Amino acid sequence: MSVNDAGFKAALEEAKIGASEGGIPIGACLVDKDGKILGRGHNMRIQKSSAILHGETSALENAGRLPASAYKGSTMYTTLSPCDMCTGACILYKVSRLVMGENKTFVGGEEHLRRNGIEVVNLESKECEELMAKFIREHPEDWDEDVGVGK
Ligand SMILES: [Zn+2]
Repeated sequence: MSVNDAGFKAALEEAKIGASEGGIPIGACLVDKDGKILGRGHNMRIQKSSAILHGETSALENAGRLPASAYKGSTMYTTLSPCDMCTGACILYKVSRLVMGENKTFVGGEEHLRRNGIEVVNLESKECEELMAKFIREHPEDWDEDVGVGK
């Protein structure tokens, strides 16, 4: 697992698309056991006024309806440690591995994933950290809202 994986590159690209749309810069990409991209997406909270389209749930949604076998051996790449909702979605569909860009900005359900037998990898990407740091500096209230805190 590395920042050169096609899945990670797609997730990072999605995060940048999100940023260019004025959204929260978090992207994700679901890749099957053979390395084929099943779906990719980015946080759409601001763009669609969505309560549930985070990076990971957008990637799952864009992958569409799939049989359970399609998730077997799959990897969810995401630019940031997954929140409880996205952690739950990965557990529900039995994704085999979760690869995150970073967890300095936020630590989500990593332990919960591991307890459910999902391999967790942190690539410690400075680029992902910087994308989030810039967004939070400019829109602290939007970030709080995304993770269910603040007013
Ligand atoms: Zn999430």
